Amino acid sequence: MWRREFVALLPASALSAQSRRLTADEALKDLLDGNERFAMGKTLNPRRSPADFSKLAPAQAPDAVIVGCADSRVPPEILFDQGVGDLFVIRVAGNVVSSAGPTVKGSIAYGVVALGAPLVMVLGHNQCGAVKAALETKEPALPESIKDLVRMVNTGGEKDLDRAVVANVRAGVERLKSLEPLAGYVEAKRIKVIGAVYDLASGKVTLVA
Ligand SMILES: [Zn+2]
Repeated sequence: MWRREFVALLPASALSAQSRRLTADEALKDLLDGNERFAMGKTLNPRRSPADFSKLAPAQAPDAVIVGCADSRVPPEILFDQGVGDLFVIRVAGNVVSSAGPTVKGSIAYGVVALGAPLVMVLGHNQCGAVKAALETKEPALPESIKDLVRMVNTGGEKDLDRAVVANVRAGVERLKSLEPLAGYVEAKRIKVIGAVYDLASGKVTLVA
């Protein structure tokens, strides 16, 4: 398998804090532990020193792919208290996966296939402007480019904003699980694809899929 060989070729020092790759469950625990620290105001701000990032210069081996919203209040590295090299992040308004096109899907696949991330998380958040716009009953006065994006948000027929946010995350997770090459990785239990929602006020992340 190409990725395994690729990682085996790396000097040990090129890998992040871990000398081996984490499992999906370990990666998830790491994220949730980090989020707990963040929500409590007890961040460690790990792996952010010059020694950390210069060590990573030859190669990366992130623990998770995060598909999150572009919202300025939802920065994955900060809210999961992670460092340089830990997360492979794709951010797009409304954390849209379905119909998102080759740039988003290709980036997610790259994080898994080429970089070996064991975990993929679709991360939505409450009060999401893109989901809110998708719930508007009358056509919003927005430029066509924004309307195109809003149409890709999958509210699952929900009317309530919080429920629509969750539905949109779940739709993204289901889409990724059925999308090649990720579907094969899921089936072989080589990765886990999960969904979570971040609460802007409490700083807490809750798993929803
Ligand atoms: Zn948002």
